[in-house]
Amino acid sequence: MTAVVNPEGALAGRVAVVTGASRGIGAAIAARLAMEGAKVVASARTLEAGEHKLAGSLSETVARIREAGGEAHAVRCDLALPEDRESLLKQTVERYGPADILVNNAAVTYYFPVTDFPEKRYRLMMEVQVRAPFELSAAVVPGMIEAGKGHIIYISSGAARHPQKPYRGAGRGGTVYGMAKAAMERFSTGMASEVYDKNIAVNAISPGLVRTPGTELHGLVNDRNEAFQTPVESIAEAVRFIATSEPKEITGRVDSIGSFMKEFELKPVDLIA
Ligand code: NAP
Repeated sequence: MTAVVNPEGALAGRVAVVTGASRGIGAAIAARLAMEGAKVVASARTLEAGEHKLAGSLSETVARIREAGGEAHAVRCDLALPEDRESLLKQTVERYGPADILVNNAAVTYYFPVTDFPEKRYRLMMEVQVRAPFELSAAVVPGMIEAGKGHIIYISSGAARHPQKPYRGAGRGGTVYGMAKAAMERFSTGMASEVYDKNIAVNAISPGLVRTPGTELHGLVNDRNEAFQTPVESIAEAVRFIATSEPKEITGRVDSIGSFMKEFELKPVDLIA
């Protein structure tokens, strides 16, 4: 079936903020939510193609949605900067109104063993992966209460799981990444319990291994693991499903993509080109 925007879809009139939407998983989520009729605020640092060494930009994400007849707006935001985090939600309100859906997807990741982890990079990872989603999530709650419902979705990782013996690959330096993701999984379930009565859902989902500019840069995807890779459309579909569900029905969950898709009998859907 051809991928189209349905302006009267299940998310018509709802405002979705997606972080890390200049490329990879975030760009796919932005497209999928727009296909369901959401007004999407696509946010990241790269506004125009060529500003970053990796492919992808907010202008391209927004153009892809608008050319298909959807609603999207780009907000340049460095999540490491408190003033940019504040400005992201301010600009969202000015453009479309308060966020009904927040997808905390952006990440910057460095791999070093704990003993060699550069302080500056550690701080940056914690700002972007922990502090920013914490702050944005807290800041969208009042608007969601006013609207009577809301969805906060965190894109986690299998790296949040504890390493098992025998310790294969333990020297690859993923401890800080796993620690940040584990912190946010606990944050998601805790926040879900705090805002349950307000009809706001908070969920975390792990994508498995997805081919994106980020995983290509880190040499994580190759022909040998192609069979184990998750299509980016699956993550987009899972987020669409959560965002269109009744908040009290799906909340406080931490799932990996495979079991989630299976449980709810979801199939990846083609995205607008
Ligand atoms: P990616 O290709 O590296 O894209 C990362 C996104 O985060 C980009 O849009 C980037 O935009 C944004 N970002 C990075 N630093 C930022 C900053 N300081 N401020 C604002 N935005 C920033 O990553 P991906 O593979 O799509 O991964 C998306 C999410 O899924 C991440 O949370 C990742 O940990 C998780 N995940 C991915 C996989 C996988 O296999 N792909 C597996 C498990 C978990 P700019 O550079 O333009 O700012």
